[in-house]
Amino acid sequence: MPTSKAARPRRASATRVAESPRDARAIDVGVVGAGYAGSAAALFLRRAGHRVTLYEAVADPGPVGAGILLQPTGMGVLAQLGLLDEVRARGAVVDRLRCVTTSGREVFRLAYGEVAPGLAGLGLHRGVLFDALFRAARREDIDLRLGVAVRGVEGGRVVDVDRRPHGRHDLVVVADGARSALRPVGPPTVLDAPYPWGAIWFVGADPSEVFRHELFQVVGGSRTMLGFLPTGRAPGGRTPLTSLFWSLRGDALAPLHHRLRFRGLQAFKDPILRREPRAAILLDQIQHADQLLFAAYRDVRMSRWHERRGDTQLVFLGDAAHAMSPQLGQGSNLALLDAQALAESLAGGGPLAAALARYDATRAAHLRFYGRINRWLTPFFQSDGAALGAMRDALFPLACASPWVRRQMVQTMAGVRRGFVLADPIPLPELG
Ligand SMILES: Cc1cc2nc3c(=O)[nH]c(=O)nc-3n(C[C@H](O)[C@H](O)[C@H](O)COP(=O)(O)OP(=O)(O)OC[C@H]3O[C@@H](n4cnc5c(N)ncnc54)[C@H](O)[C@@H]3O)c2cc1C
Repeated sequence: MPTSKAARPRRASATRVAESPRDARAIDVGVVGAGYAGSAAALFLRRAGHRVTLYEAVADPGPVGAGILLQPTGMGVLAQLGLLDEVRARGAVVDRLRCVTTSGREVFRLAYGEVAPGLAGLGLHRGVLFDALFRAARREDIDLRLGVAVRGVEGGRVVDVDRRPHGRHDLVVVADGARSALRPVGPPTVLDAPYPWGAIWFVGADPSEVFRHELFQVVGGSRTMLGFLPTGRAPGGRTPLTSLFWSLRGDALAPLHHRLRFRGLQAFKDPILRREPRAAILLDQIQHADQLLFAAYRDVRMSRWHERRGDTQLVFLGDAAHAMSPQLGQGSNLALLDAQALAESLAGGGPLAAALARYDATRAAHLRFYGRINRWLTPFFQSDGAALGAMRDALFPLACASPWVRRQMVQTMAGVRRGFVLADPIPLPELG
């Protein structure tokens, strides 16, 4: 995992833990949440020789949700876990991001290949990534506790919502997502607020791949955003899928359902068809309002990511540590990178607190950059700011005219930037 020179961690390996005279013992780790961050962390840490217990609130976790865009950074982590080939086999190659206005004028077209030939993102059904990580965790000697909703760490033990005590761990990895139940016992939170806007999602069959090779968005001011993400195939499925998303304020959801009840689903479909007639292939598959999923976003920023509670250290990973809107398609990738960086920081040896300080130093620039740019960019695409959409439509084409700025933008999209101008990007992973 590429990192700044100041805090370059060493590779995680079982031998490293055993060889180091300062940390010859393997530590006992409790991981809370079997999402992307938690399952990846459990895998890395178990393979590095630590004892791992993985707590998951859902008793029978399974693939749910719509599409995600996996970036080269996230693919690099999967390659290190030996899972990239199986995930890639079910994904859809996404070469570029293209955005047009409702009148058809191009706002930007950013191709991954502009920073490295052959570079691409991967459109994925969420369940494919979940399945790959969770099944791999099941194959390891990891103590899996399903149906345990953790609420905190008390008297050195993990405690669930019914106040039942569970394991005692040297390190608790908190990876329970954007609405983390453990955030109150973590480090000070600088920001933890719902974003007023979210999106309605639908994943439909797209057998002739009408939407392929690009994440395509149609925007109208900052209040209208329609998007199409090629999503590959669902776990066990054969048909290519496309995810459709339609931007909506959270408080407009109930009025929308009310409208649909009285005017029928066409009231949802018509505004979309007016903006993109090719959407018909997906919209024709929507027969009931409950096929539409609404996803809300949350902004979370912590002052640091680790905290000591008595004899237990806590470290926050993934959305629990830094939830953000999906505008830049980075959340899953950041979660995977967190897991890899944590394992590498522990493999560096020394006291646990020092290893966690190393983790913070390793992740700080990357996470701060994506948190900031995401908070800065999202209102240009989803907000009530009337002038922001017009500014976006005027400024993006100008910015894209400069090859240097384009390169920065594509690197940002690929997930490798660690700062606005001078910071070295993360080297692109070898993906074969
Ligand atoms: C609409 C939408 C689109 C997105 N698109 C993209 C994209 O294109 N690309 C991208 O990279 N990211 C995208 N993201 C972001 C991405 O989904 C998240 O960043 C990612 O899922 C975070 O993973 P995580 O493991 O941190 O958290 P989660 O995936 O939320 O996993 C948390 C896990 O913890 C469990 N849990 C919760 N509470 C407890 C508890 N108390 N005790 C035990 N277990 C618990 C949950 O059941 C869950 O299994 C998108 C997000 C949304 C909402």
